Amino acid sequence: MSSDRLFPDQWSPSLRATAHAWAQLVAPLSCAGCGAPDISPCPTCCVTLLRSVPRVVHHPLHVPVIAATAYAGPARRLVLMHKDRGRTSLATPLGAALGAAVRSVVARVDSAVPAVQLVPVPSRRMNLVRRGRSTVAELAQAACRELGNGSTVESVLRVGQPLRDQVGLNADQRQRNLAGAFAASRPDHQAAPSKVPVVVVDDIVTTGATVAEAVRALEAGGYWVLGVAAVCGPRRR
Ligand SMILES: [Zn+2]
Repeated sequence: MSSDRLFPDQWSPSLRATAHAWAQLVAPLSCAGCGAPDISPCPTCCVTLLRSVPRVVHHPLHVPVIAATAYAGPARRLVLMHKDRGRTSLATPLGAALGAAVRSVVARVDSAVPAVQLVPVPSRRMNLVRRGRSTVAELAQAACRELGNGSTVESVLRVGQPLRDQVGLNADQRQRNLAGAFAASRPDHQAAPSKVPVVVVDDIVTTGATVAEAVRALEAGGYWVLGVAAVCGPRRR
């Protein structure tokens, strides 16, 4: 049985099963994390992802940055398959891991906070066009479902200037590339940023330069930023 939503919901179970069998002949389905056949992600990869303990990523920011797991092994492959290969069904397990990281941020700062607004780090315009979707916003929506406490997604960050690709830049160069890159707008339905605290969310945090710019822009826009949560952080050394 496949957990990938390959076929329309209105198809009958037998039609879906037949179509699945045909699809398997053409392009065998395998776990995006470990390559196990027939199901993606496989239960082992889901359990590994969900059992990982969120940890603080070291960075020079004044708010906590917490990643659900390290950018390695099955977690890394699941993130990449979701991001670049259009495996949208992976948003559910990855979003659950992100939700755990969000919970950890809230617990560290002020555990009395009932609900938060998750603000996705915006994608470069080129990536949005290429992928046709905001993959971080998808993860944020799934994280809200996992949190189940009335938390919402507010995509209030915009890219204010064209960004160079960050790949190959060191931490200092990234920081200079990103200075002033983001701007925070007000939520569509509100006159001013509400008093609900926000948590910046991203799929992968490496040097922390991107999330630092996101925090700067939100605070400049009057938002109360509790911290940053990501699915993957740097590998442990
Ligand atoms: Zn697997």
